[in-house]
Amino acid sequence: MGATIRLTFPEPDIAGLVFDTPDRGANVLSQPVLQELDEHLSELERRTDVQGLVISSAKPTIFIAGADLREFASSLDISDEEAEAICRRGQTLFQRLARTPFVTVAAIHGVCVGGGAELACWCDRRILTDHPRTQIGFPEVKLGLFPGWGGTVRAPRLAGLGNAVELITSGRSLSARQAVAMGLADQFVAPEQLEAAAIAMVRQEAQSGRYRQDRETRRGSIAFSETELGFLGLTASAMIRRETKGHYPAPEAALEVILEGSQLDEDAAAVREAKGMARLFGSPVNAALLNVFFLTDRNKKDRGVDSEAEPAEIATVGVVGAGIMGSGIAAANLKRGFAVWMKDASTEALERGLRQALEEASYDRETKSASAAKLAENAPRLNAVADDADFSICDLAIEAIVENEEIKKQVLPQVESRLPETAFLASNTSTIPITSLAQSLSRPERFCGIHFFNPVRRMQLVEVIRGEETSDETVATAVAYAKRLGKMPIVLRDGPGFLVNRLLLPYMNEALELLLDGVSIDEVERAAKAFGMPMGPITLYDVVGLDTALYAGQVLWNAFPDRIAVSPLLSRLVKAGRLGQKSGAGFFRYSGKKNRPEPDPEFDKILSDLLRERREMSREHITYRLFLPMLLEATRVLEESLVRDVRDVDLGLIFGIGFPAFRGGLLFWADQVGAATILKQLEEIAYLGARAEPTEMLQEMARTGSQFYSRGMVP
Ligand code: NAD
Repeated sequence: MGATIRLTFPEPDIAGLVFDTPDRGANVLSQPVLQELDEHLSELERRTDVQGLVISSAKPTIFIAGADLREFASSLDISDEEAEAICRRGQTLFQRLARTPFVTVAAIHGVCVGGGAELACWCDRRILTDHPRTQIGFPEVKLGLFPGWGGTVRAPRLAGLGNAVELITSGRSLSARQAVAMGLADQFVAPEQLEAAAIAMVRQEAQSGRYRQDRETRRGSIAFSETELGFLGLTASAMIRRETKGHYPAPEAALEVILEGSQLDEDAAAVREAKGMARLFGSPVNAALLNVFFLTDRNKKDRGVDSEAEPAEIATVGVVGAGIMGSGIAAANLKRGFAVWMKDASTEALERGLRQALEEASYDRETKSASAAKLAENAPRLNAVADDADFSICDLAIEAIVENEEIKKQVLPQVESRLPETAFLASNTSTIPITSLAQSLSRPERFCGIHFFNPVRRMQLVEVIRGEETSDETVATAVAYAKRLGKMPIVLRDGPGFLVNRLLLPYMNEALELLLDGVSIDEVERAAKAFGMPMGPITLYDVVGLDTALYAGQVLWNAFPDRIAVSPLLSRLVKAGRLGQKSGAGFFRYSGKKNRPEPDPEFDKILSDLLRERREMSREHITYRLFLPMLLEATRVLEESLVRDVRDVDLGLIFGIGFPAFRGGLLFWADQVGAATILKQLEEIAYLGARAEPTEMLQEMARTGSQFYSRGMVP
């Protein structure tokens, strides 16, 4: 038998199957592991001396993390029949846990999701530990699928139809307490009591025989009136549509299968589930979301350097500049246990920054305010720098002062001179070249960019920028540190706008050009949102601030004058004091209590002076104009080897600007369209001149039929 599932006998008449994948942190359900389970069950079913079976895991924080996604990814092109057969095999295997001649109990400690949760749900009973790492759920919709090994059949029979719909269509996981309250699990206990509780449950059930009655009930359909079913269907589907905006088909498909399956017996419901799941398996959205999973998984493992350089320990962090970014960075550090020393040129700003950082780090989601316990825990680790000598205890200092090269070049060497020689220094600049800032320093090898995004608490992406002299140790340290903050760092070579702002600019700029060509704000916004962007580019201008956008744009306009021109529209609006939401008007006007954006005739007046001859454009044409210049810029970024891997471009855009995950990333999407087709689309917007001109790389790809993800999707 294989090496993953161990057969044990905690008591002579009670069997145990312990999952423990060798050399891996997590248990996953690959085909060989399912084969092992099959063999163990066959052996146990033959025995007459077994009263019950307890299924558990030997991993410290994981029960079973789900199906093997690499196996999935390598079989995306299988036929619907094959996909259905895979589901049926899994269901039939798990179903045996509800048909054995003895009671089956899942004893769950740690993460129990996807296929793991399905396996547990086919058992007669589930006991969870009340450890914070223990959770149970069905996250399949996040991969464009729904549970296909009986999850949609069993969850409603255990937790009730409404609960199961919510759980499966949202993909959220439950804590032990929530799972018991919902009926998905039977009991929660302290981790050290898990085994004893499972054995006790076997004994109790074997004696009472209650599990046999439950098996009978669960094999039938669920009692629910037509009216109730119709009402649940309508409300759930309206909620799903509001969330997915029609871009993610899995939750609606799951809803349909759960509702239909509830009116069938268990066996027929399983057949229905397999058919539905097969339709989603390998679909474009499924492939794209799997890609996003692999992008993040790769990022977790990537150390940011190709050499053996080891990251240094960071415990105490200096933050220079206590404004929006400085206080956000300080809060993120406090939350993850770092000691923080903050400095600002203005005492008032420092006081405000310290207060904001402390409040944010101590925020309790449940009470929606700072918790006293967290305040008491965080406050002793947050300090104001009274004298620059305080920096002498920092392992790392991050500068987040005004975006002014001269001032930064004065402040950075001052801080550096007070840091220990072994410490690291970083700038949070959005636009100033790291190599240029490094010229003011005596240890440029220990300096890099650590570019957080606003708001720091919400944005997971961090750009780590290496200047010409930045050492591998510095990069490895910055990457490891960013991960300790819970962020996703991508490492970039120095260059104007780094990665995200450089790719965002052509898109934002094109939105302005479209307005000048007579396309309405509404048409531009709708095209971007239909493509899947979380908000339209015009709204984004108003949110970011037009002055900030103008300034960031100028850096790129100066760097690439051949293909991007400063838009007269943006500078006119800034000159007119229209800075966006913060000033009450930008492209829109903001008034009333809710500060909702409203069309503004004043804006129309400014635009009318600049309007060119109107061009009629289809939605598709507007989409080309918005996204193809962004793609061309990405190919230039690759040509310049600014990123270490094509996948960093996609990760950066998804987590930096909300590029739609259901498209798998900009380059992943371009691969699906194909370079040859993209060249044809570019011809349609060739009237734009240099900014729509195909790059060498794209032409070469079209000639050779190659792809950005040339090594396939699986890392
Ligand atoms: P901010 O204006 O909110 O804060 C800057 C702070 O620096 C102010 O409190 C100011 O008093 C202080 N300061 C100015 N000169 C100083 C000096 N000599 N010594 C110490 N403190 C000084 O600005 P912000 O939005 O927090 O931006 C800070 C940095 O982060 C900039 O480099 C900016 O480009 C970058 N950034 C900003 C964003 C954003 O969206 N706001 C996003 C990413 C990066």
